[in-house]
Amino acid sequence: MSGTRFPLPPGAVIGVLGGGQLGRMTALAAARLGFDVAILTPGANDPASRVAARTIVAPYDDPAALAELVAIADVVTFEFENVPASVVERLIGLGVEVAPGPRALATAQDRVVEKSFFRDNGVPTVDFVAIAAAADIAPALGRLGAPALLKTRREGYDGKGQAWVKSAAEADEAWARIGAAPAILEARAPFVRELSVIAARGRDGSIAAYPLAENRHENGVLRLSIAPAEVSTATAGQARAIAATVLEKLDYVGVLGVELFELVDGRLLVNEFAPRVHNSGHWTLDACEVDQFEQHVRAVAGWPLGPTEPFAAVEMQNLLGEEANDWARFAAEPNARIWLYGKAEAAPGRKMGHVNRLKPFKR
Ligand code: AMP
Repeated sequence: MSGTRFPLPPGAVIGVLGGGQLGRMTALAAARLGFDVAILTPGANDPASRVAARTIVAPYDDPAALAELVAIADVVTFEFENVPASVVERLIGLGVEVAPGPRALATAQDRVVEKSFFRDNGVPTVDFVAIAAAADIAPALGRLGAPALLKTRREGYDGKGQAWVKSAAEADEAWARIGAAPAILEARAPFVRELSVIAARGRDGSIAAYPLAENRHENGVLRLSIAPAEVSTATAGQARAIAATVLEKLDYVGVLGVELFELVDGRLLVNEFAPRVHNSGHWTLDACEVDQFEQHVRAVAGWPLGPTEPFAAVEMQNLLGEEANDWARFAAEPNARIWLYGKAEAAPGRKMGHVNRLKPFKR
């Protein structure tokens, strides 16, 4: 509601746009701090709804649903970055604070806007060219070198909406493969590892970053995160500086995830950022006193940020599709903590849960 005073006291209501597992774990963390969560989601019986105090089931742009959310929520956040930016603008117009703000959301939603933002702020990223038609691809390939990666500007995730272009002769086919939609052509990042950093900025401008995670993907989907990643002090420092620049330049409040490519000499290039809690930060649930979900709630509610030093090393494994049916086996592993998202349908590749395997932490 307008004129919200921070820090929010326990008993306040945090509105969350989106009903998936990220919203579920956010709601659990919020409940631990005494808050109630109200979810707005188009899906009935979503993972987050089953642990939240309230759910409004409606399309994100439903005016009555937005008015209802504003009437009950003291602050609103989102767990899903493809919520229309116009919805966030509308919520703000109705007088509620939304964190992170619409600029962070709009920047993350369009790969050309996002990469231009990195470039304009001295954040190292791959070279790129905006593509509006198939005919733009050949000249861009000439500039960037082959192979290059064609990605839709909007709504791509987990490697969807992407096609490698090895030569100008493949331009039409690649354009058709991504659905002939406005796109970006990216130079190939010659990375040796994929890393990520989860960081937060509070309402007072304070910043806290967790140690880096090393991420392994399968078929474009995150399979494993190993944390803390073994990286040089310089690489860790560069990651923190990148996260701090993004957070500050966007006047960000909340947690974000920054996906990084590590080059052979340890330097980093940014791939993208997610304006929300991130799958590669799930390891913090069992290895940090304040995990990424509580950190996000703290930031959004105007509480002090919590510590980010881990007390254990973790290998986080996503449970995809039918793998989650082995819950009893994972639960029997003495050093494993299992998190299940309560999804009824185990479609192939669908994120059903994850396991954090804890190991002694070597400093
Ligand atoms: P994204 O959807 O942007 O996260 O990309 C999915 C995956 O594609 C990344 O995790 C990388 O493995 C790979 N990838 C993305 N962009 C590039 C790039 N410019 N060069 C090389 N590999 C990339």
